[in-house]
Amino acid sequence: MTVTDELKSFHWLLEIIHSVDVGVMVLDREYQVEVWNGFMENHSGLAPDQTQGQSVFALFPEIEEAWFRRKVESVALLGTPAFSIWEQRPFLMNFKSYQPITGMADFMYQNITLLPLKSTTGVVEHIGVVIYDVTDVAVNKSQLQDANMKLERLSRTDRLTQLFNRGYWEECLHAEYHRFNRYHQPVSLLIFDIDHFKKINDTYGHPAGDEVIRQVAEAMRSLVRNTDIPGRYGGEEFVCLLPDTPGDGAMILAERIRTHIERLLVMHEGREIRFTVSLGVAELVDGIASAGTWLEQADQMLYQSKHGGRNQSSLLPKSE
Ligand code: GH3
Ligand code: MG
Ligand code: MG
Repeated sequence: MTVTDELKSFHWLLEIIHSVDVGVMVLDREYQVEVWNGFMENHSGLAPDQTQGQSVFALFPEIEEAWFRRKVESVALLGTPAFSIWEQRPFLMNFKSYQPITGMADFMYQNITLLPLKSTTGVVEHIGVVIYDVTDVAVNKSQLQDANMKLERLSRTDRLTQLFNRGYWEECLHAEYHRFNRYHQPVSLLIFDIDHFKKINDTYGHPAGDEVIRQVAEAMRSLVRNTDIPGRYGGEEFVCLLPDTPGDGAMILAERIRTHIERLLVMHEGREIRFTVSLGVAELVDGIASAGTWLEQADQMLYQSKHGGRNQSSLLPKSE
């Protein structure tokens, strides 16, 4: 290659570096800018002559100086490249994002690569910083995560009442059962069923029945603690796990729910609907073989309340 050829290809290289769609800057060991390509100019609004010889920290106060220095020094010392991805650190420089369609990101997410640039004597005298705009990837990923979270919430929520559905609530039941066996903190289980619900459906119609179910769910939600785990177990059957609550405490809640619902008036298409519920409570004790057995015990107490005349609560005697 002649000298002219070499100059020509060097010129082309510069041209390419200037116009590629990634950020390229070169810093000297004092963190002063030496090279500033078109991407950097476009996104920062600063022309090369405004950055040349300036400290990158003075130009971009948002750069976390201690972190960036540590990273650069190790690149210089080891003579090997280093990387930083948007998931660790969303950006090096706070450039605006130009996402006309999504409008989801206020800033440009960046991956960066730091390259040791050796002089002819083999000493790292400069650091090349390459900045990739990965806003698309970041936005897609966060949208996907949002969608997954929504799906997860939907998959454990009962549509009519927004309570936990049976599947998810049963997972919680097992978790509480295992927690008890490990930590032995008191935990109780409450189950209840609307009395003569068929009659409500028959008299007022199915939509009225649905409204009753919704309002019972709402009443339960308003009466339990944040740490309690309420669910809709079946048609007009409700359940609630009560962590850190012994049987007598659970009975207080059961009675509160019962009396609240006894007084509740559901209006549907101008008609007044009154009804009651029957409840069963079982505190978990040692020696219960499974979570399912615990639930059966509470269910037996519910049936005791039904057979005892409905509109009442029954607690599993502790000795059993
Ligand atoms: P009991 O006092 O013994 O509980 O009498 P009940 O009439 O409430 O009897 P049961 O618990 O067996 O009745 C359940 C009824 O609930 C049967 C079913 O038609 C109705 N049902 C189940 N799911 C829904 C629902 O989502 N909406 C409405 N409106 N009705 C439902
Ligand atoms: Mg029932
Ligand atoms: Mg019923």
